[in-house]
Amino acid sequence: MSEPSKDPETTEPPTGGNKIEPGRGRRNAENSLPTPIFQTATFTFDSAADLAAFHGGESKGYFYSRYGNPTLAAAESRLSGLEGADASLLYASGMAAVSSVFWALLGPGARLILLGETYRHTRDFAESLLSRYKVDVEILPENTIRVLEKVSESPVRVLFTEIPSNPTMRVPELGRLAEWARGRGAKLVVDSTIASPVLLRPLEHGADLVVHSATKFLGGHNDLLAGAVSGSQPFIDALLEQQALLGAVISPHTAFLLDRGMKTLGVRVERQSETALRLAEFLNGQKQIKCVHYPGLESHPDHETARKLMAAFGGLFSFELNGGPEAADRLIDSLRIPVLAAGFGGTESQAEHHSRMAYADIGLEGALARGVVPGLIRYSVGLEDFEALRDDLAEGLKAIA
Ligand SMILES: *Cc1c(COP(=O)(O)O)cnc(C)c1O
Repeated sequence: MSEPSKDPETTEPPTGGNKIEPGRGRRNAENSLPTPIFQTATFTFDSAADLAAFHGGESKGYFYSRYGNPTLAAAESRLSGLEGADASLLYASGMAAVSSVFWALLGPGARLILLGETYRHTRDFAESLLSRYKVDVEILPENTIRVLEKVSESPVRVLFTEIPSNPTMRVPELGRLAEWARGRGAKLVVDSTIASPVLLRPLEHGADLVVHSATKFLGGHNDLLAGAVSGSQPFIDALLEQQALLGAVISPHTAFLLDRGMKTLGVRVERQSETALRLAEFLNGQKQIKCVHYPGLESHPDHETARKLMAAFGGLFSFELNGGPEAADRLIDSLRIPVLAAGFGGTESQAEHHSRMAYADIGLEGALARGVVPGLIRYSVGLEDFEALRDDLAEGLKAIA
């Protein structure tokens, strides 16, 4: 693992979730090591009395898979262990998780503050759908505590941030955001998709809820879509009731893949962080490069904060080229290893000219209005060897020299 130094003011180094659970005493019905895929919509009862006992809370079990399923429960419990949360709930996608949390916490007249840089569709959801329900949506210019000092005094229901943010990897001071939210009676919701619980556990820093696109690092193989929310038991219970009405549940098969993916989260993210740091350092010195956005670099505006909060700096970075958008297009076409595809966090490296991938419908200018610089390349580091990825980038840079 790369070596962020300890915060001199805290006695504990930053913790990531790598909790080891005892293997004994956790056997399931047929003693299969992984929890089986309970590929069922519904669960049976022996008799009227059996059903009544279930509804009366005298017997445990499952009823119908929209309200819970043992395969889902296994993955939820693993995620709670990683996040240090009381409870977690899985969803059909990251967007289902984000939107469900907003539906649960907000209503007409409630105020939502989004700290600057967010996943595009989180902002689109807030601006297009929530505002139709008269939620007061305020989008601040960057992911820092500083911008909050300027917001008006009217009550705030939810403060939402990503950590690190996409695509310039800003790392806000979580503890101070939590303090601010408490002072305003607001809930702090953190989308920690890019960090993953291996590097940062937002609940330990005062966040009320953590959301994930489990499609990314948690699943880790680009073979599933899923989302998750972690937090206190009462809040997760309320979300479960809501989910029974909204219906955005994950399938048992997908939950199984996610649970399997999370078993290797620690080693994947450690390795991806190590390679990403070395690649970011390599790129930082090249003449074609204008700047590299990676919190592991001293030049990043949030380097110090990231050192305090994160166990390493993650597998995602972005960079800008002196040659602008044309050079970015040429570089992307010259690279041989990273695939050109939406998303990140998998075992295969991915590289994209970000505005072209994520903002094609509004063009480079439209993306710039959203704060995404034309020509910015986002690079998700997979599990390939560092040397191969570095040489591939070096060759690609020669093509735009
Ligand atoms: C991808 C992503 C989402 C949305 O997740 P899906 O699983 O694609 O619905 C939300 N937040 C962040 C930070 C993401 O990267």
